[in-house]
Amino acid sequence: MATTKTTTKAPKAPETTEIVEESALNELFLDELKDIYWAEKHLVKALPKMAKAATSDELLSAIETHITETENQITRLEDAFASIDEKAVAVKCEAMAGLLKEGDEIISETEKGTLTRDAGIISAAQKIEHYEIASYGTLRTLALTLGYNKAAELLEATLKEEKNCDGLLTQIAEGGINETAKSEKE
Ligand code: FE
Ligand code: FE
Ligand code: FE
Repeated sequence: MATTKTTTKAPKAPETTEIVEESALNELFLDELKDIYWAEKHLVKALPKMAKAATSDELLSAIETHITETENQITRLEDAFASIDEKAVAVKCEAMAGLLKEGDEIISETEKGTLTRDAGIISAAQKIEHYEIASYGTLRTLALTLGYNKAAELLEATLKEEKNCDGLLTQIAEGGINETAKSEKE
C-alpha cells in the first residue's frame, strides 16, 4: 500500500510569469517586507545594549556575531526591495517594538553580573528570533508564490541565520547558564 510522503521542502516558484504587481497578495508581501525592515533596523540598535548587559563571554560573543549578521540582513532586505523595483521603506513593527521593550524590562529587573540575567536575555532574544523566523519563513514562501525568486533567495539566507542564532542561544542556555543561575539568590 502506498504511503503518503511528507516533505519539508520549500514550495517551488510558479512556472508561469503572471503579472502579480497589482495583486492583493503582492501588497501583503510588500507590507510584511516593510515591517521586517523596520524590525531589523531597530533590533540592530538594541542589540549592543543586550550585549553590554550580558554576563557570560559566550552570550556576549553570540550577540556580537548576531549584530554583524543583522547588519547584513538589513542590506539583504534592501537588495530584496531593489530586486522587485521597490524602494526600501520601513513601517513600524509593533511586535518588534514590544519584544524590545520586554528585553529592556528583563535587563532592568535582573541583577548585573548574574547568569539569571543571561537566562533572561536569552529568553528575550529567542522570542525575537522566533518572530523573525516566522516572518522570514512567510516572506520567503510568499516571494516564491509571487515569482520573486531573487528576493526568495535573500530571505531564505536570512531565515537560515535566524534559525542558527536561535539554536545557538538554546545551546548556550542549556550548556551551563541555566544550571548555574539556579543557585543564584533573589
Ligand atoms: Fe534578523
Ligand atoms: Fe511585525
Ligand atoms: Fe535575528
